[in-house]
Amino acid sequence: MKQKFIDLHLHTSFSDGISSPEQVAEAAEDMNLSAIALTDHDTIEGCSHLEKYCLNKGIEFISGTELSVDIEGNEMHLLGYFLDIENQLLIEQTTIYQQNRINRIIELVERLNKIGIDLTADQVFNLAKCKAPGRPHLARALVKYGFCKSNNEAFSRFLRKGSPTWVPKINANYRDGIKLIHQAGGLAVMAHPGLNNIDNLIPNLVDAGLDGIECWHTRHQKSTEKRYREMTVKLSLLATGGSDCHGPQKGLPIIGTKQVPYEILEMMKQKVASSAGSLL
Ligand code: AMP
Ligand code: ZN
Ligand code: FE
Ligand code: FE
Repeated sequence: MKQKFIDLHLHTSFSDGISSPEQVAEAAEDMNLSAIALTDHDTIEGCSHLEKYCLNKGIEFISGTELSVDIEGNEMHLLGYFLDIENQLLIEQTTIYQQNRINRIIELVERLNKIGIDLTADQVFNLAKCKAPGRPHLARALVKYGFCKSNNEAFSRFLRKGSPTWVPKINANYRDGIKLIHQAGGLAVMAHPGLNNIDNLIPNLVDAGLDGIECWHTRHQKSTEKRYREMTVKLSLLATGGSDCHGPQKGLPIIGTKQVPYEILEMMKQKVASSAGSLL
């Protein structure tokens, strides 16, 4: 039988991706994926839309999100899977995270104004057209209004951590993030640890109830993938994976290219079924 593949890390235009849910479902079909999860930053708004398109195409869909959380002064990304998208607390808290994102864009624009870049926050929000705006939207606005030639230039000159115009985002604590995902019926997974350099804090995450680690990721080399897969075995955690595709852009992650086997999803389903009601 032909092997089945999945992609559990995808973004749409409901956060900083450039594809609509319909376009993501079409791309998943083109890549012959059996299942996909939507993990937009700090929102679950796109899930019902993508679920509908996936259903039409016979692609299994998992509702998810990618929360930005703080762990001992570091920002890390926490993926949530199998979420009840009608969960009130999840809706309320993500609305607060979205407001933090909006406030941060306003502050970033103020910093840019101080160094003579004549951009307005509304120009960024009008371009973002979503409730969870992020730095990629600001980068696109800087390009659109002629202040930078590319998104990369915008990040390296103005938006990267450490640049004088950078401001931190206010993030929830990781323990609260894990609890929030669990109380909404979901599994909590550490996103792309290879990009973070906080392996020493993984025991804290496990203590807080972490369910898994994202081992397959476009920006993980084979050796990194292997290291984290071995770690998940040692710690009895789930191994998950996805592309982190933000749309079909040259040189950036592309949906379905990480070849994550379907069996990974089976193991996640077993865990979510066996912990139903006990994850609180
Ligand atoms: P934010 O959540 O607003 O802090 O933005 C973070 C997002 O920006 C990440 O999830 C990436 O999609 C994107 N990003 C981060 N660094 C860069 C970079 N150097 N160039 C392009 N995109 C980046
Ligand atoms: Zn992103
Ligand atoms: Fe991320
Ligand atoms: Fe992501």
